[in-house]
Amino acid sequence: MSGLRVVDPDLLRRGLSFPGLRKRANAIASLPPLGLLTLAATVGDGWDVSLVQDDGGLPLDQTLEQIMATNPDVVAFSSLTPAVNRAALLSNRLRSRSVTTVIGGLHATAAPETCVDHFDAVAVGDGERIFPKLLSDWREGRLKQFVRADEPIAMTESPVPDWSLLGDATPPRYAMQTMRGCPWACSFCAASRMLGPPRTKSDRQIELEVEAITANHMRPWIELADDNTFASDRDHGPMLESLRRARAKWFTESDWRIADRPELLKAIARSGCRQILIGLESTVFRYPGMGRKTAGFQRMVDAALAIQEAGIVVNACFIVGADGETRQSIERLGDFLETAPFGEVQLTLQTPFPGTSMYRSLRQSGRLLEGDFSRYTLFDVVYHPDLMTADELRSAFADVISQVFRPAMHARRSKIIQSVRSFVRKLT
Ligand code: SF4
Repeated sequence: MSGLRVVDPDLLRRGLSFPGLRKRANAIASLPPLGLLTLAATVGDGWDVSLVQDDGGLPLDQTLEQIMATNPDVVAFSSLTPAVNRAALLSNRLRSRSVTTVIGGLHATAAPETCVDHFDAVAVGDGERIFPKLLSDWREGRLKQFVRADEPIAMTESPVPDWSLLGDATPPRYAMQTMRGCPWACSFCAASRMLGPPRTKSDRQIELEVEAITANHMRPWIELADDNTFASDRDHGPMLESLRRARAKWFTESDWRIADRPELLKAIARSGCRQILIGLESTVFRYPGMGRKTAGFQRMVDAALAIQEAGIVVNACFIVGADGETRQSIERLGDFLETAPFGEVQLTLQTPFPGTSMYRSLRQSGRLLEGDFSRYTLFDVVYHPDLMTADELRSAFADVISQVFRPAMHARRSKIIQSVRSFVRKLT
């Protein structure tokens, strides 16, 4: 279950059709479901596995019939928070037709209690070890409501995803995971709390995964589904060399401190990296838990510039709506971005996902708005801000989106991207 379905109609009308935003939303929606493809590779003999992808665009009945056409005994869901309500509706319909349903993934791990009423079993933790056990429990008629991983797995246990399930389809973008977890614990992020400190795949695993993708698609676009790619102390050289050899174009997320590693920057730029998303987070608030990522705003901007000067386009990521935010501070952010040096920007609303310390704290203080998780899209207001009303935040956010993603700004950033990339062409 994937896909971004913004609920706020005003924002949909005003902002989300702009080219920069639309392109990124389409890119995310077109990614194959890496978690399910990985789990499919853990299933032993005696099972026929089929894949049905649902981005929320089809009527529920149609998706249900697509699933039923595979004649399933067990349906495994992997869903992010905003899609979990639709997954629950589908699951309820499947169960009424005597199909067993299970759910896993980050949302189910962070908030298993929100899933348990709608699925026969909830998998909590890394799926690679849990899933085969869950299937054998089902076979033996002793499936439990909760199946928990005893401990995080070593990433070397994670198999190459079963890309054959895509059939003849060649998606425009592939996903690959080189690591899981993060050393930091930003209060808005569930990665380190749910997944622990960084765990990395071996160089050989990454080489095999890149080969499996290039067997389907020459010169592929690969999105690394990592939490913080360069946060571990591994030697990233062999991994970058695998990507370079495959002539892949790739995207990932990192923190600004890679700017302090010039040799790494050179290797990243030469390996085909098209863009790195760097969280500059909030201009009005320093989130707890950011560890050594915590820095003054100008320090992070300078780091982003250094990364671009090394030939890597930075997608500077900002969170709007933290404590202390006002209409004026949001307008200041919009004005700053009019002349900012970044090749791309991402603006999202602060969103307290289940499993984060922010979620717990807003819930305890009664600041979460009523409603289900389908509004947790990063573009819908789901809590009471401290210095504005929810409506004021909604309106100021829609205004800054309209400003920052209007065609003239998009064209300006495209020129920055071109100039960064022409530098890379000279390098290679
Ligand atoms: S640095 Fe990134 S991945 Fe790590 S905890 Fe913060 S937001 Fe999450």
